[in-house]
Amino acid sequence: LLDHALSLDVGGTKLAAAVVDRSGRVIRRGEVATPRTADSREVLSALVALAAEIATAAALDDIELVGIGSAGPLDPVLGTVSPVNIPAWRDFPLVDGVVELLAPSRRPVLAGDGLCFALGEQRFGAGMGSVALLGMVVSTGIGGGLVLDGRLYGGPSGNAGHIGHIVIEAGGTPCPCGNHGCLERYASGPSMVAFAVSDGWKPAYGAAADGRALGASAAAGDLIALRALARGGEAIGQAIALTATLVDVRQVVIGGGMAATGNLLFGPIADSLARHAVLGYTHGIEVRASTLDRDAGLLGAAALVFDSVAAAESAGNVSPVGVPAQQSTREGS
Ligand SMILES: [Zn+2]
Repeated sequence: LLDHALSLDVGGTKLAAAVVDRSGRVIRRGEVATPRTADSREVLSALVALAAEIATAAALDDIELVGIGSAGPLDPVLGTVSPVNIPAWRDFPLVDGVVELLAPSRRPVLAGDGLCFALGEQRFGAGMGSVALLGMVVSTGIGGGLVLDGRLYGGPSGNAGHIGHIVIEAGGTPCPCGNHGCLERYASGPSMVAFAVSDGWKPAYGAAADGRALGASAAAGDLIALRALARGGEAIGQAIALTATLVDVRQVVIGGGMAATGNLLFGPIADSLARHAVLGYTHGIEVRASTLDRDAGLLGAAALVFDSVAAAESAGNVSPVGVPAQQSTREGS
């Protein structure tokens, strides 16, 4: 019965939805641009309309299981989200909103998008079966998530894995998070572009100065563009080495727009990692590009909700998923 889940992926640029089965097959998917609005209900309505359309198209009449991956910060217990790039949502009750408008018969499961990416790749993608994996999404920002001992690790707050904000240069470039020298300030798409521009790089005629154009210039042999990617790769390699030293990850899967630059970025990452991962147990880490691309987060959110059902069943807990026992009564009220 419970072999299909509705997955939602909430980002500042796009909202995505899919119906996914237990084997990781995407039955139907779709996406829309995230509305630019100050009206929180308008963003929710766009997400729910997309979800309903995808569910109908996949002939999923009875929406029972819903997994939600969202840009953070978020609170998975309260079900609230405050995505940095969705200003209309601050401590927004996303889970309650989805319950109200889509009426799933179980409470949806919510996790950070970086965590969902990591879990999707660990179950169905380039990190399949890994017991200790770091997932990274390198695009406008840098997100991440950890699978440790074969299980997704969100920590007590649900926000563990924010690798974009670990410091790789003490006293380095200021970061909007309040710290200095965060990975994101060196290796996100905009950071690499800004570095190249300050070094004299110009995109090909007519192109915007963005990550895609930077990758194209580098692929064409532009030395400044190559240097910017090398600098970003150096920073990413450092961050991976730090993570491996601390929690012994063995596999790293990298997705996001900048991963599309391929070896122009992965080469410098490997060189940096070889230099910075010095302790014996950190040698030989496998760094791969995502194979699931834009579906990784959707598949991870689906895996999360299937797992939560399995956990509830094995614990003999019949209360709706994610709802503490004392709250579950309101489902029937
Ligand atoms: Zn930061």
